[in-house]
Amino acid sequence: MEKHNISVLISEEEVQKRVRELAAQISKDYEGESVKLICILKGSVFFTCELAKRITVPVILDFMQVSSYGSQTVSSGTLKVKKELDEPIEGDNVIIVEDIIDSGNTLSRLVPMLQERNPKSLKVCTLLDKPERREVDVKVDYNGFNIPDKFVVGYGLDYDQNYRNLPYVGVINL
Ligand code: 5GP
Ligand code: MG
Ligand code: MG
Repeated sequence: MEKHNISVLISEEEVQKRVRELAAQISKDYEGESVKLICILKGSVFFTCELAKRITVPVILDFMQVSSYGSQTVSSGTLKVKKELDEPIEGDNVIIVEDIIDSGNTLSRLVPMLQERNPKSLKVCTLLDKPERREVDVKVDYNGFNIPDKFVVGYGLDYDQNYRNLPYVGVINL
């Protein structure tokens, strides 16, 4: 693939600092309990790992891959589950871990789907949020950074499956 020009938006140090802050907040909020982090593949793999390592309450990991397409006028049938969770979440303190919230379509369909499985609690944690792009309202409990309406790569986020391994978040000049 051709090499793209990528400019750093959030440096490796800034990302790491913020992930530590989020982990500290989560550890405090769930003191005396345990959490199940649901990593939404593939974009939030790096974020989930770094977050999980720094959370001080017991952590269980599970993985799900979904794809959302179509507009919000087509209802929740348009969330395609490509990989289902391995275990039930009934009675668990669940945190959905996302890489980025853009239109909000994915989460606005995923949250009710998981809520039906009767977790003890259900929250959303995202590394990045592009509030300007929102089409559907979603409640975000933990947010790393608000970013402008630019296409970003790195720290798990891809352009055509490339650049996920960059240690920083960058804007790709296409
Ligand atoms: P939403 O359903 O909120 O519109 O879509 C969220 C998904 O779109 C993200 O999980 C991610 O896969 C993709 N996405 C949205 N914005 C970006 C971006 O700037 N860069 C990359 N790599 N993916 C994005
Ligand atoms: Mg995602
Ligand atoms: Mg992608």
